[in-house]
Amino acid sequence: MAPIPKECDYLVIGGGSGGLASGRRASGMYGKKVIAIESKRLGGTCVNVGCVPKKVTWNAAAIAESIHDSKAYGFSVEHTAPFNWSYFKQKRDAYVKRLNGIYEKNLQNDKVEYIHGRASIKSKHEVEVTLDNGDKQLIKATNILIAVGGHPTKPEDKIEGASLGTDSDGFFDIETQPKKVAIIGAGYIAVEFAGMFHALGTETHLFIRHETFLRTFDPMVQEKVVAEYERQGIIIHKNSSQSKVVDLGDGVKQIHYKDSKGEGTLDIDSIIWAIGRSPETEGLGLEKIGIKTDEKGHIIVDKYQNTNVDNVFALGDVVNQGFELTPVAIAAGRRLSDRLFGGKKDAHLEYENIPSVVFAHPEVGSIGLTEPAARKKYGDSIKVYQASFTAMYYAMMEQEDKGPTAYKIVCEGPNERVVGLHILGIGSAEMLQGFGVAIKMGATKADFDKCVAIHPTSAEELVTMK
Ligand code: FAD
Ligand code: NDP
Repeated sequence: MAPIPKECDYLVIGGGSGGLASGRRASGMYGKKVIAIESKRLGGTCVNVGCVPKKVTWNAAAIAESIHDSKAYGFSVEHTAPFNWSYFKQKRDAYVKRLNGIYEKNLQNDKVEYIHGRASIKSKHEVEVTLDNGDKQLIKATNILIAVGGHPTKPEDKIEGASLGTDSDGFFDIETQPKKVAIIGAGYIAVEFAGMFHALGTETHLFIRHETFLRTFDPMVQEKVVAEYERQGIIIHKNSSQSKVVDLGDGVKQIHYKDSKGEGTLDIDSIIWAIGRSPETEGLGLEKIGIKTDEKGHIIVDKYQNTNVDNVFALGDVVNQGFELTPVAIAAGRRLSDRLFGGKKDAHLEYENIPSVVFAHPEVGSIGLTEPAARKKYGDSIKVYQASFTAMYYAMMEQEDKGPTAYKIVCEGPNERVVGLHILGIGSAEMLQGFGVAIKMGATKADFDKCVAIHPTSAEELVTMK
């Protein structure tokens, strides 16, 4: 017999960054009856196969770099210390599992009812959940939030044998460290993974379609980080494409490719596609209530997270706002609950000046407009300040071991309001948050200069630039 239908004020589909933040606020702060549905693991992409295990791996890579660098500071360690990938993975998995438990506890604390199962919309007020035992649970809801995120895209329909490669989800399942890896893609994930693999001692091939990667970032970032990756020894296949992947047996795959140097094949242990992500809307039933999507399947919303159906809202990676970042999903989710249930009629996330960081080696931070975008928007009223230098950290190192540091401030108008900041080098991730606050408040170049420098740091360059 089917379970008795449930009722709630707010039904959240997707227990990831955005859904949990919105649901917990609606229930914990505003006392609404909230039900959250999750088909996989609580915490979504960020906790399970994204930010969290990625950053822990990045930390491991940073430690490997420090071990390498320590020799220059007088430590008698081997140039590269052996890295126990399996041990590390086990501990990383355990950490993520602990977080899953904490997320479940947080839902209990905020009195959100959590159902594990796959949700499908039946009508604008009804959602059916397929439970783990196969039963169907009907839920009637006054409001519905779609926060189902996305999944990695694989070119299986375009490249023969593409399924022999894995993706960013599969990266976190790799049990033993590959000796030789090929990463295909040119965005955040490809660049982060390439940097981490290389630092941990894997021979790393990065296949990009053009001359540079991170092409949505400022040209300074593209140029410096590509040059730095090449300096480190990451093999970048520029202007490349792949025609097929062949299984050679014994875990070896062969990529057939073309790049700037011509045609070639590469025998490899592990292939990772990192060519972007697609919204997780298959089987969700969007068509049942006529929810509008764009050409890539992202749900179309306005700045208030409204879809075209009046009681159905959407946010996070599944929408067409162009920011696939955890804090964006969280902030949009909380503001939405403030608006729907907290009486804050205009609450919404401002989608301008959102800072983000690529955990590359070195880290890259960016907020606001790139120089070309600022020139397009403001024409000749743009003034750019730029500095490129060697951080003091590298003072003890040989020339060939010195990494880059580069900063760019993009200003607009006679007051030189800062409309873009682009930084790369050690510590950029932590550095950007504070500068983000200033830029959000409308800081000018003179405001930057008024702040007394902290010496000796790299960041002091940002308040002393001529
Ligand atoms: P998700 O977190 O993906 O949550 C959606 C949830 O919905 C999932 O758990 C899914 O199982 C569930 N679901 C889907 N369909 C259904 C259904 N029909 N029924 C029930 N449940 C369903 N962002 C950063 O800000 N910083 C980073 O450093 C960073 N690193 C990243 C690294 C990687 C490798 C990846 C892949 C992403 C990274 N991101 C990072 C992006 C970040 O993870 C996402 O932007 C964020 O998780 C989006 O949150 P969301 O709530 O929209 O979706
Ligand atoms: P992105 O959208 O960032 O980048 C994918 C890139 O891959 C494309 O821009 C494209 O660049 C390239 N590409 C597309 N198709 C192909 C192809 N067939 N062959 C080779 N290259 C291809 O996607 P990601 O998967 O890297 O990440 C998804 C999102 O997750 C990011 O946009 C980001 O918002 C989020 N994320 C955030 C992180 C952070 O905050 N630190 C870390 C990781 C992910 P081109 O046109 O130049 O070829």
